[in-house]
Amino acid sequence: MAILQPWNIVFTIGFVVYVTTRGRFAAKTKGNESMDRRVGLQEKILLPFVISTSLLFPMIYLLTPLFSFANYELPVWVHACGVVLMVGGLWLFWRSHADLGLNWSPTLETRKGHEIVKHGVYRRIRHPMYSGIWLFSIAQGLLLNNWLAGWGVVLSFSFMYILRTPQEEKMMTDQFGSAYTDYMSETGRLFPRIRQSSPEQSKPTD
Ligand code: SAH
Repeated sequence: MAILQPWNIVFTIGFVVYVTTRGRFAAKTKGNESMDRRVGLQEKILLPFVISTSLLFPMIYLLTPLFSFANYELPVWVHACGVVLMVGGLWLFWRSHADLGLNWSPTLETRKGHEIVKHGVYRRIRHPMYSGIWLFSIAQGLLLNNWLAGWGVVLSFSFMYILRTPQEEKMMTDQFGSAYTDYMSETGRLFPRIRQSSPEQSKPTD
């Protein structure tokens, strides 16, 4: 079974931390009352696509021979890079959940009493959770020697990120107006914005 190979054991440990982190925060926000919920057809299709490629595919690869037709080999240094990305991704994923607190939700929605979070990892990046998911997904590709279990999630999350992020920013702008557009001008989407913009050139950036 693939799960018994050393790099797959390392991945499995990270995978358990990833799933447990999400589970803990999902339980905490369960009682939230939604104020604006934007779950259209796109979210309904994309979310299961991302969940199956990020959770189901690795489990099928690790526990069964079903995906063995898509196996390949990678050098050790590539796996080692994967571990570094995985640790970074897990840290960002945990910190962004912790900083969002009750304002987190798995779908596009704002809750009753929603506040814009600008502290912690949100100080210079406005989508640090997505940065963490990107890092973890790329690490998955670098650690698992399988096209489907390794890279399927990079494909599905690319769609999710490209389609969802502008909608999320629109939802936040509709809700918070200039408080959110000002915040956009002070932060980068996935990477920290290093230079603070002056008021005249305060335009949102990528
Ligand atoms: N895109 C963010 C959050 C992902 S969770 C990130 O990558 O870190 C998705 C929910 O978080 C959205 O539905 C929205 O309600 C909420 N959200 C996003 N940015 C926020 C912010 N700066 N403050 C408070 N809530 C935010």
